Amino acid sequence: MEKAYNPYDNMLRVLESAANMLGLKEEDYVVLKYPERELRVAIPVMMDNGTLKIFEGYRVQHSSIRGPSKGGIRFHQDANMDEVKALAAWMSFKCAVADIPYGGGKGGIKVDPRTLSKGELERLTRRFTARILPIIGPEQDIPAPDVNTNAEVMGWMMDTYSRFRGYAVPDIVTGKPIEIGGSLGRGEATGRGIMIVANELLKRIDKPVEGTRVAVIGMGNVGGVAARIMHNAGYRIVAVGDISGGYIDENGIDMNELSKFLSKKNLVKDYKGNGRFCTTDEVIACDCDILVPAALENQINAGNAETIKAKYIVEGANGPTTVEADEILEKSGKIIVPDILANSGGVIVSYFEWVQNRQGLAWTEEEVNIALEKKLIKAFDEVWDLAKDKNASLRMGAYMSAISRIVAAHKIRGFFP
Ligand code: GLU
Repeated sequence: MEKAYNPYDNMLRVLESAANMLGLKEEDYVVLKYPERELRVAIPVMMDNGTLKIFEGYRVQHSSIRGPSKGGIRFHQDANMDEVKALAAWMSFKCAVADIPYGGGKGGIKVDPRTLSKGELERLTRRFTARILPIIGPEQDIPAPDVNTNAEVMGWMMDTYSRFRGYAVPDIVTGKPIEIGGSLGRGEATGRGIMIVANELLKRIDKPVEGTRVAVIGMGNVGGVAARIMHNAGYRIVAVGDISGGYIDENGIDMNELSKFLSKKNLVKDYKGNGRFCTTDEVIACDCDILVPAALENQINAGNAETIKAKYIVEGANGPTTVEADEILEKSGKIIVPDILANSGGVIVSYFEWVQNRQGLAWTEEEVNIALEKKLIKAFDEVWDLAKDKNASLRMGAYMSAISRIVAAHKIRGFFP
């Protein structure tokens, strides 16, 4: 029986294995087992009906060894400190794999945003920003969108922070609207990154993009965008899933049509095309070449890992695969491109956004996309070679790449006091 899933334990187990594989001594990497700073806040919000409600929020800074902490803010009813701590650590590793000059952080509010009006959501976001204001800053900790947050939410955060400072501070958040310093290409960056790594994977195994069958779980900013961009690049999207269930069409789903439908606040279960409605489990187990889990953690676990037919898994979500599932999948010869590499396109373009803000420049979308592809391919090559070299999985390759960079930076900086 798999014990209750704890994302922070999951992170620690992978960290330990990779550190052992690198032959590191405990003292070399022990700092990575503990977040540098954890903040829990109570957020009072005046609701539309005149009552005052208190929400719980978190911001965790896992590491600032390689630069400011960087990472998103999620709004979710199941958000909790252990989850945010794990997500913050994964950001440190993700930024190190991509070799961008950041540490890692993450934030969250325990709330189902669908139960709030727009005004309540804005007041919640602004009050949360005020609560975490003492520990965030463009050189200290830079939030971004994550599950259930978007450019509009980032705009509110940027405005709140700026009002306190007395002047506009665009580089306090990334993923904000273009009009206030957001970057072209940021909205699609995570999904585009998924396609870039899938393309690299196919090159390595000599398989053409045309006709490669893909299933995607999660139709948000990561999965929805990845499925649409990949469809337009020639991949055949055979199954998709969201919170309402799944949809399968072996002949390929027209993702432009489905995306249009979903953008009007519709759910997959209500889509009428040539395919059929199914369960999320059927999407996970469907006949395809690449499975892209792009919703929440713990989607692929000991309970369903054996049902997966796809040979390749490209992790769009953070932490979608448990350690137990990973072992099952590895034994059956599956190849997994891990989250900290596969979904790093978002934070890579966040970094470009921050760089543009600090320089007072605006790049074209083409410049952004070219720079993203270059960075991601370099990271993919490094991870692939390292994994090959050590006869290890791509997950271990990615963790080894990340940990070596952080440990090296830590050694050079030295200890204080
Ligand atoms: N939330 C995204 C992630 O998990 C983006 C973080 C960022 O851009 O800072 O990678």
